Amino acid sequence: MKISVFHNQQSTSILLARELRKKLLAAGNSICESDPELVVTVGGDGTLLAAFHRYAHKLNELRFVGVHTGHLGFYTDWRDYELDELVESLSNDQGESVSYPLLDIKISYQDVSRDTQHFLALNESTIKRMNSTMVTDVYIKDELFERFRGDGLSISTPTGSTAYNKSAGGAVLHPRINALQLTEIASLNNRVYRTLGSPLIIASDEWIRIEISEEDEYLVTVDQLNLHQSNIAAIQYKIAAERIHFASYRHTHFWRRVKDAFIGEL
Ligand code: NAD
Repeated sequence: MKISVFHNQQSTSILLARELRKKLLAAGNSICESDPELVVTVGGDGTLLAAFHRYAHKLNELRFVGVHTGHLGFYTDWRDYELDELVESLSNDQGESVSYPLLDIKISYQDVSRDTQHFLALNESTIKRMNSTMVTDVYIKDELFERFRGDGLSISTPTGSTAYNKSAGGAVLHPRINALQLTEIASLNNRVYRTLGSPLIIASDEWIRIEISEEDEYLVTVDQLNLHQSNIAAIQYKIAAERIHFASYRHTHFWRRVKDAFIGEL
């Protein structure tokens, strides 16, 4: 198999990646960064997110596996002392995979001569105004739903629901649910201004459009990427046609993963 080993810059990850490459080669695999069939990440969730963006243009041609060097992550199943078992399981691989939904993001600008920007996110995208209260119109499937005032909005995937979305008070969604979640970040709610005030989950054939009413500087995030934007007209969010595929060698039960990460032993 053609495998890319993608690691973060921590010394433990660099050493582990070196050891893993040797073991993979000894087992008859080849190391290929440009056109891999499998990407093994060594680090944490952030490393898997970075690898996802590195290979986002060919998601349907490859699968991911995550080795974690710190705490058990949401995208990382293998521990740093399990390299031999990982390599052996890859030798017995029959191409199995599980796949999860992604967020499709399109940013359009007031200046119509400027091209629309297109991104994919694995966790979420947020939009915040840099200098003052953000005022935006939120459309669901082309129908005006509410006028939002506050710090910002987060739109997350099911696997991203345990990340920023959860910190913003969103629900945890099982990744088999093909849906997106819109979560408010500190909305202004009083007798004059009104938003729903609770997270909202939209179906797979729906989309969210956020129209910017006041021209200003905005910060749009796409997973760990920060985009400083001006002149935005609207951002459209929907479930992407592409999905991320994970090699299912060690697929941990989702609710057990949530319990391990947030609750621990009872
Ligand atoms: P980072 O290094 O600051 O990581 C943030 C934490 O989020 C790490 O502990 C990571 O393990 C965890 N994480 C990432 N994806 C997760 C997921 N799907 N479920 C549960 N936990 C997850 O930042 P990074 O490595 O650049 O990662 C970017 C991500 O960090 C963003 O996509 C966002 O979801 C998250 N983040 C969260 C907050 C917050 O909760 N207040 C703030 C900023 C960023």
